[in-house]
Amino acid sequence: MRIEVDPERCAGSGMCALTDPAVFDQDQVDGTVVLLRPSPPAGHEEAAREAAHLCPAGAIRVLE
Ligand code: SF4
Repeated sequence: MRIEVDPERCAGSGMCALTDPAVFDQDQVDGTVVLLRPSPPAGHEEAAREAAHLCPAGAIRVLE
């Protein structure tokens, strides 16, 4: 699995970082998404899918 994010679309809601803080973080200044792990570690796949589903801006893409 690979994850892509689009900071241009990101609305800074923080849902992704709340859903899986091992994979997603937010920029300290403007709150936009920071992708920590483009290839999620084992056991984080479902949380990554959930984060993509919850993102209100459609800024997270999961490539299975
Ligand atoms: S959930 Fe979406 S809009 Fe919110 S911070 Fe993450 S990528 Fe940005």
